[in-house]
Amino acid sequence: MSKGITSRGEDYSQWYNDLVVKADLAEHSAVRGCMVIKPYGYAIWERMQAVLDKRFKETGHSNAYFPLFIPKSFFSKEASHVEGFATECAVVTHYRLKNDGTGNIIVDEEAKLEEELIVRPTSETIIWNTYRGWVESYRDLPILVNQWANVVRWEMRTRLFLRTAEFLWQEGHTAHATEAEAIEEAERMLDVYAEFAEGTLAVPVIRGRKTENERFAGALDTYCIEALMQDGKALQAGTSHFLGQNFAKAFDVKFTSKEGKLDHVWATSWGVSTRLMGALIMAHSDDQGLVLPPKLAPIQIVIVPIFRTEEEKQAIDNYVDALSSELKGRDISVKYDDRDTQRPGFKFAEWELKGVPLRIALGARDMANGTVELARRDNQTKETVSQEGLADYVVALLDEIQEAIYTKALTFRDEHITPVESYDEFKSVLDGKGGFVSCHWDGTVETEKRVKEETKATIRCIPLDVKEEEGICIFTGKPSRHRVLFAKAY
Ligand code: AMP
Repeated sequence: MSKGITSRGEDYSQWYNDLVVKADLAEHSAVRGCMVIKPYGYAIWERMQAVLDKRFKETGHSNAYFPLFIPKSFFSKEASHVEGFATECAVVTHYRLKNDGTGNIIVDEEAKLEEELIVRPTSETIIWNTYRGWVESYRDLPILVNQWANVVRWEMRTRLFLRTAEFLWQEGHTAHATEAEAIEEAERMLDVYAEFAEGTLAVPVIRGRKTENERFAGALDTYCIEALMQDGKALQAGTSHFLGQNFAKAFDVKFTSKEGKLDHVWATSWGVSTRLMGALIMAHSDDQGLVLPPKLAPIQIVIVPIFRTEEEKQAIDNYVDALSSELKGRDISVKYDDRDTQRPGFKFAEWELKGVPLRIALGARDMANGTVELARRDNQTKETVSQEGLADYVVALLDEIQEAIYTKALTFRDEHITPVESYDEFKSVLDGKGGFVSCHWDGTVETEKRVKEETKATIRCIPLDVKEEEGICIFTGKPSRHRVLFAKAY
C-alpha cells in the first residue's frame, strides 16, 4: 500500500516530508521557514506539553509569560549572547503602515520606533531585566519559572518541525543563591528531559555536555540530550544551560545573602521545542506511516466495524458502546470509525498512516464467536482475541507496545555507537552505517572545526558517564583523556 509516501530506503528526507504532510501533522506556510501545525500534529504536541508541564510543576516550577519583543539595548547587554544570535534576529523597526496616495500600502517612515525591537529568539535578556525587580535578598530565591511560547530564529535551511524560523517551545529560567544550586537545577532539568524522551517519546537519549564550540551563547556549560534517527543522523533533542552569573551581571541582578553579603544571582535556562515532533517521527515511523508510542498517541485505539446489514451494524454498535466506555474509564482514548463513506480497507490504511497504536476490527463472525481482531501498528502483527476481558488485555498491550517501540529504538541506537581509533576508520563509519562515533579528540575548537569542514560531523556531546582513559586524538595525535561522540546531525 503506497499512500504516496516515498520509502525510507529511496530517499529518507523525502520520506520524512511526505509523512509529515500525508499524516496531517503540518504543512509549509506562505511564510518562508514557518509551518502550519495541523490539528492532528498539534494534538500530539499538546500531549507532550501536558506530560512536561506536569513534571515541571512537580519539580517546583510555575508558568509565567514575558513579552514577545525585546528592546535591542537589552539584547546587546550580554556580549557572547548577542554575538551568538545576531545573525538570526528578526527586528521590528516601525509600528504603522499608510496608503501612499496611489493605493499602495507602505511602511510609514514617520512611525519609526525610537528603539528597535527584537522578536525573541530566546528570552534570557527580557527575563533577567525583569528579575532585577524581583530579587533583593536570599529570601526571594530561588525563582523557578517556565514559559510556554513561540520564538523566532531566522534559520536559513529549514525543515518541518526539526528546524523552523518560528517554533513553539518552553523555556525555563531559574535564579539561585549559589553556584551549586544552579548547577543542580540544570542537571535536574536535563534528567526531566531524558526521562520524558525515553519514557514518553520512547526515544533513547545520551545525556552529555556540549563542547565550547557548540555551547549556548552566554552559557558556562550546556547539557544536552542527543537522540539518533533511523538514517544514522543525530538530533539534539533538548538543552539545559548553566549560565553562571553572566546574565545577573549584565542586568545587575544582586541579592543579599544570609551573611549580609551582596552577590550576583546564579542562573539556568532550559528548553525543548516542537523539534521533538521531528524526533518522534524520525525515530519510529516506517514506510507505511507514523508509528506513535501509546503515551503520545491522540487516538490510542481505533475500532472499525465490518458489516453488511443494518442489523449487523446495530449489534456491533451496542458492543462498541460498552467497550468504549469501559476503555475511556481507564483513560484510553478510543475512536469508533463507523463512517459509512469509506470501506474498512481504506480506514485501516488511514489509521496506519496516522500511527494509531492499536486497531480493533470486528464483523458479524466475530460477534457470533465473541472475538475481535487486534492489529498492532508497531510490528504489524494481528491476533484474534476474546471479547471477554478485552479492556484489561488492551490496556496491558498498550504498555507492551510502548516498551517494544523503545526497545527497538534502543537496540538500533546501541548498534550505532562505534568506537574508532583512527581518522580513516572515523570517515568510513560516517560514510557507511553512520550513527555516533566514539573517539579521542584533543579538546581544541580548531580540531573540532576542521573535522566538521572535512566530514560534516560535529561533536554531539561529551557523555556524562564518560570514562577517563588515556588516549591520543585521532585527528592530531595529541593526548586526550576521554572519548567524545561525533555524528552528522540535523
Ligand atoms: P537552545 O536555546 O539553542 O538551547 O535551544 C533550545 C531547544 O530548541 C533545543 O532543544 C533545540 O533543539 C531547539 N531548537 C533550536 N533551534 C530550533 C529551531 N530552529 N527549530 C526547532 N527547534 C529548535
